[in-house]
Order: sequence, then C-alpha cells, then structure tokens
Amino acid sequence: MIYFQSLTQSELAQLLLPLSGIQKTGGLTPEEIQVKSEKRARYRAKQLFHWVYQRGQTDWDQMTDLSKDLRQWLKENIAIFRLTPQLNQQALDGTHKFLWSLGDSKTIESVIIPAALQSAVDLAEDLEEEKKVPAGPHAVGSRGIYSGKATQDDLKSTNWKRLTACISSQVGCAMACKFCLTGIQGLDRHLGVHEIVTQVYELRRLAPITNIVFMGMGEPLHNFENVVKACLILLDQDGLGFSKRKVTISTSGLVPAIEELGRRVDVSLAISLNASHDEQRSKIMPVNRKWNLESLMKACREYPLGSHRRITFEYVLLKDINDSLEDAARVYDLLRGIPSKVNLIPFNEHPGSDFKRPSDENVQKFQKYLVDRKVTATIRISKGRDILAACGQLRSIFGTARGTEKHRDWQAQQA
Ligand code: SF4
Repeated sequence: MIYFQSLTQSELAQLLLPLSGIQKTGGLTPEEIQVKSEKRARYRAKQLFHWVYQRGQTDWDQMTDLSKDLRQWLKENIAIFRLTPQLNQQALDGTHKFLWSLGDSKTIESVIIPAALQSAVDLAEDLEEEKKVPAGPHAVGSRGIYSGKATQDDLKSTNWKRLTACISSQVGCAMACKFCLTGIQGLDRHLGVHEIVTQVYELRRLAPITNIVFMGMGEPLHNFENVVKACLILLDQDGLGFSKRKVTISTSGLVPAIEELGRRVDVSLAISLNASHDEQRSKIMPVNRKWNLESLMKACREYPLGSHRRITFEYVLLKDINDSLEDAARVYDLLRGIPSKVNLIPFNEHPGSDFKRPSDENVQKFQKYLVDRKVTATIRISKGRDILAACGQLRSIFGTARGTEKHRDWQAQQA
C-alpha cells in the first residue's frame, strides 16, 4: 500500500497513467494516445487531490465522479493515512496541543496556536491572504473571521487573526539544544512524508488552519528530502493550498541544507538563533560547533527571499546567559543587511531544566534596544504554558521518549 499523503500530484498522475488509457483510439497516432492518456491521468490526480484535501473525503467509494474501476484500484493500492489522537489538550489561551500515535507506536506532537486580531494593518494583510485560500469546507470567511469546522468553541471564535499549525518533522531530535526537551530526548527516527503532511491534514479537519510552522519536534532540515516533498504537497493549490508566505521552516542552522532549501522549494525561513556569539551558542546549541554564526549569517544573506519577505530569528531568552544589553547589541550587528524580524521568547521553564526565565523588565529592555534601532522585534509569550506547550513536553510525560534521569524522576512524581 502507498499512502496518499506521501504523493505529489504529479507522482499520483504517474501511478494513474496505466489506468488512464483511452478507449477510442481510431485515427490517433501512438504519441497522440500517450498525450491524451497523460492528460486524463493528470485530471484524475487533480480530482483526487480535491476530494481528499479540500473536501475531506476519506472513503474512495464516496468519490462518485470516479469510475468504479478506478475506485477499486484505489482501494487495493492507495491508503489515506490517518493519525490516531492520543491526547488533545486545550490551554487557557486557546492553544491546542495534540499527541498523535503513529503506526509503529511512536508518538509525535502538533500544536494549533491561535493569534488574536491585532490591528487594522494585520486585518488588511489577512484580507489579502484570504483571497488566496481555496474555497471548500476549510475556507476562511470575510473580515478575518474564520468560518470552518472547529472542534472546540475557541477555534470558532472571531478573535483569532490566524490559526497556526506547529508541526513535527522527526520523532525526537538529534540536535541536542540544551534548553529543549526534545533535544534532551534524542532522535528516534525521521517522519515520513505522509506523517508530516497528515499532521496538517488532521488539524485542517478540526480547524481552519491558516499558517504552518515546522517548529514542533525535530530539526526539519535533518529530514531534508521528506520535509521538502511535504512542503510541495502542502503548497499544492489543488490540495491543502497554503501560500508560500504561510509555510515556515525553522532550523537550528544546518547551513548546507539552508542553501539547498532555497534552491528546492519557496517557503519562509526561520532561524533558531538563541545566542549572540559563537562561544555562547556552541554551549547551548552544539550544531554551532559545526556551522558557526558567520557561516549561518552568510547562508541567511544569500537565502532567496521573495518580495516583502523576511527571515524570522527566534531568540529564546535565558536568564543571565543571553539576555543582556550587550547580547542585544551583538544580535543587532549579526542581523545587519538581512531582511529580518526577531521573535523574543522568554524561556518557558519546565521541570528538570536548570535554565531560568528572565525578568519581564529585562525582556522588555532587550526588545527596546532592537526596536530603537528599527529592528522589528516582538515578544512571544510561550503559548499554552498550562498544558506544557514547549516542544517535547507532552511526549515526555507519556513516557515514550528516552528522557533524562531528571525527567524520569519527574514523570514518576506525576504518575
Ligand atoms: S530546539 Fe529544535 S533543533 Fe534544537 S533540539 Fe529542540 S527540536 Fe531539535
């Protein structure tokens, strides 16, 4: 069996080609027959993308405009992959966190992060983007009001500017960032294309997701080929139909893969920066020992950004480690010449971590330093704090990750 969500539209058309031969061939040359068959296969692939991704149909027999023979072939050869929900928690701020079990009993997490309508400018941007969202059960309504299916009342609220799906690319992560629970757990395995795409597919069935960020478990560029192919499927306008501006890949800094990404797929880029100089970054992000800040910033400068697009730099503020005004000044220098915005994220303290959250005053001073120098810098309050929304937290509670002694102790206390 092949999973539907692992196929691009053109790959699906290739699979359908042997079934798409035309009956009446009188007077046609073999080349003309081939062209007509390919056209029919492409048309059928498009129909199937509409049925599965836009109409949410999961039963081949209900796809009534397909021939009986084709439906039978689909039943025998292609499966629509589903993720099994193990847990769905809702935080007070509206954040939803999902723990999914995969076919092999591994688990991954995805999060829906709502953002409130903020300003007339935001609303105008939304109205522009709404025009690009395909019609269907997941369509976005007028004036930034999301009208689609939602599982819980908060997702139906008119207060959300956007609903962002934060998805995972691996089970665990090999990058071992010191402040991150997933990093502590280590890498279990890469996710397949179908497992990445299906996180969005499942969340879109629950809520009118508008944005996707690869900021869940895993380093997306470590699972490069699968992530690139998943992006191509997510961007397909006959499928889930996301705009390239609305899909963001966040990386800890795998420099050669950043360069390759720019050549392979047109999506937005975020860098998990988290430090202002090499010594500091290498201590908390081992990836920096291989690709230092100079090479990372060079890759960012050369990343092919479309018009009006910027690279997002995520900066987790850790008390007494990277939160001084000297750090802010070095960050400012690093970003010179790069169209950028900075997301400052005060560390989300969790059991078993030695890192601390800086005071609100220090966070605001850090932001002010950048804003005073015309750098767009926002403070992102860690969403879903009451449901442990930092990456890897749900999974570690449920004991499917390896975990450290401290985490195992903590899990035992929670049991
Ligand atoms: S912060 Fe991201 S890259 Fe680093 S260990 Fe965690 S999941 Fe991996």
